[in-house]
Amino acid sequence: MALPIVAVVGRPNVGKSTLVNRIAQAQDAIVHEMRGVTRDRSYHEAEWNGIHFTLIDTGGIEMSDDDAFQGSIRKQAFMGAEEADVVVFLVDGRTGIVPDDVEVARILKRGKAPVLLAVNKLDTPGVEDPIWEFYQLGLGDPFPVSAVHGNGTGDLLDAVVDHLRGIEHEEPEPDDAINVAIIGRPNAGKSSLTNRLIGQDRSIVSDVAGTTRDAIDTVVEHEGKRYRIVDTAGLRRKSQIDEDVEYYGFVRAMRAIDRADVALLVIDATLGLTDQDQRVAGYAAERNCAIVVLLNKRDAVESGEVLEDLRDRIGDRMMFVGFAPVISISALTGKGVSRIWGAVDTAFENYSKRVSTSKLNIWLEGLREFGHTVTKGKKVLRLKYATQTRTCPPEFTFFCNHPEIVNDNFERYLENRLRQEFDFAGTPIRLKFKRRD
Ligand code: GDP
Ligand code: GDP
Repeated sequence: MALPIVAVVGRPNVGKSTLVNRIAQAQDAIVHEMRGVTRDRSYHEAEWNGIHFTLIDTGGIEMSDDDAFQGSIRKQAFMGAEEADVVVFLVDGRTGIVPDDVEVARILKRGKAPVLLAVNKLDTPGVEDPIWEFYQLGLGDPFPVSAVHGNGTGDLLDAVVDHLRGIEHEEPEPDDAINVAIIGRPNAGKSSLTNRLIGQDRSIVSDVAGTTRDAIDTVVEHEGKRYRIVDTAGLRRKSQIDEDVEYYGFVRAMRAIDRADVALLVIDATLGLTDQDQRVAGYAAERNCAIVVLLNKRDAVESGEVLEDLRDRIGDRMMFVGFAPVISISALTGKGVSRIWGAVDTAFENYSKRVSTSKLNIWLEGLREFGHTVTKGKKVLRLKYATQTRTCPPEFTFFCNHPEIVNDNFERYLENRLRQEFDFAGTPIRLKFKRRD
């Protein structure tokens, strides 16, 4: 499901990350089942009154160049104005209005997204005088908040979700097509690959408007199966900060990932593995996509050894997508590209796989008899039974006597054993532990 995006924009030190963390706190406290993934602290999934959204601390996103202080605030503002569904513009109630605030307000007002002005660091409830001067910014009634103490943040969130409710986030008509997103760093070869996948088969079914503004998805039929190539939102759009691709790529990739069943992660094999590749892979895995890794530009690498080295590095440095198959391709010559369809099919099959409770518990019985468990003090973990609680991706809940002593190593062990037994190549799986005495 594509989550709407709420961006928090503001000068350094006004309290953006404090606010984002406070809002996300409830969710983050229960992420035990999400271990092992490089969590990018600049965004969180959040929920308020039943509305789920992605909250982004724009100040936490890396910029591609070392911007001057002011340049970077301007970019955040542009990004908020162009890419977010709602912008929370945070200012510091202790310093009062500064020129940067005026500039940011001007940019935000020109954008499409509704803007909520929040005046932070008002720690004493009822003492709200500092908000008056912020009316000058022309952004309506300011919300007094204290990110540190939580005062006022509920009212702010009420207003945020009021706006989100008004936004249509309609999903495409459910059909049998597999949603595929093509993601990766700029110049990795995403558009070349998209064109090849679409062009390879003459039988393009239709163009349908995607969920996100300006996104156009293409449905392709290949050997009787349908695939929707999910556009990376806004890729074709010219914007004022188009050169700052890394910065924008973050939000766009995330939007595409949210709408996809399977992500094709394109890596430029001539460059090797970059930090950005790891980051994109991290959020694809974290946001529950099946993944196929593509080493592109194989025509341009010197030898097969380079590709082998790259595979090793992926194994070492992107363990969190260790489940993903890796295929070498050339989007330019077309070599290897036809193998992508089969890999997508397998990944999707495993992503939507359902294992019966009886099979699962026969496996668990064997594990109890011959496998490991964890102990802590006098506590010995006993897994009593297990059941698959979700698909897409598969989620398993283990009922046990002491869920609190389950650690990362044990989870990894269980995951590996599950994968050996039931084959989940291409898909992440999630594990949950619940007490049952
Ligand atoms: P960012 O750079 O905008 O992300 O700002 P931070 O969240 O890192 O906060 C900057 C500083 O302001 C930190 O020292 C915070 O503890 C402080 N701060 C943030 N929110 C509040 C608040 O509501 N009240 C007070 N008194 N300090 C705050
Ligand atoms: P995107 O930014 O990820 O969409 O990347 P593009 O598809 O625009 O490709 C970036 C550049 O890499 C272009 O000059 C492509 O022609 C080139 N390119 C893409 N795929 C390949 C490939 O398989 N081999 C070679 N040699 N070049 C490629």
